[in-house]
Amino acid sequence: MAHRLTRALRDFTLLVMTAVLHVPAFEDNYIWLVRGRSADRVAIVDPGDAGPVLEALARLRLTPVAVLCTHHHGDHVGGIPGLVRHFPLPVYGPAREAIPGITHPLKGGDEVALPELGLSLNVIDTPGHTAGHIAYHGDGMLFCGDTLFSAGCGRLFEGTAGQMHGSLKRLSALPAHTEVYCAHEYTESNLRFALAVEPDNADILGYRNEVAALRSRGLPSLPSTIARENAVNPFLRSHRAQVRAAAENFAQQTLDSDQEVFATLRRWKDTFRG
Ligand SMILES: [Zn+2]
Repeated sequence: MAHRLTRALRDFTLLVMTAVLHVPAFEDNYIWLVRGRSADRVAIVDPGDAGPVLEALARLRLTPVAVLCTHHHGDHVGGIPGLVRHFPLPVYGPAREAIPGITHPLKGGDEVALPELGLSLNVIDTPGHTAGHIAYHGDGMLFCGDTLFSAGCGRLFEGTAGQMHGSLKRLSALPAHTEVYCAHEYTESNLRFALAVEPDNADILGYRNEVAALRSRGLPSLPSTIARENAVNPFLRSHRAQVRAAAENFAQQTLDSDQEVFATLRRWKDTFRG
């Protein structure tokens, strides 16, 4: 009984306070439910699994109005068929990728109007993790899928380091206060790598403590902000002297451009065990 009351109170607080709710899925995915200015309607971002989304919608009495996908990987789109069986939802996603049930193929520069939520989101091309990956930005929020993680970035499965570096530079230039909603909870392990690159960075050390406190209470480390990512994320900091020096030390050679520094960091992280 006490447990149910606590849970009801927590749900109520979430609904009053929060424009974006999180649904944990699989090992470490977050499916975001974006309310914007609506009381009881949401857009669903990257639903890899329908089950936990349907459960959250029912428990919180929320009505979905759209699905937004960032890229074609199964842990981001696998829940779409199960959701559209229950709700007649428009499905937005990258035009260049195979998204199940897609109704609105998008490319960089397009706009997604969600009047039910009082929101309009701009589409940003962010290739690198996959060839057609897109991100959604608007109203002080960024949904960046597997391109930008807090203190990290996605692996290069289909794109080049140059593409990913360009994508991250576009995200890095967004307004500093922008809230960053990544699709995975990788922050703690990413921070171990960030500290290997910049052991003396006070922002990383402080953030590591904040994240540890949140995670020990079972809370997400997200959203982050663009300001924070610019301060702690080595993949947004390849133009910094200390980051370049660390990458050159790893590569045992001089690196001639920020993009080479970025590519070296990505290779280093792929084999990093911290
Ligand atoms: Zn992915």
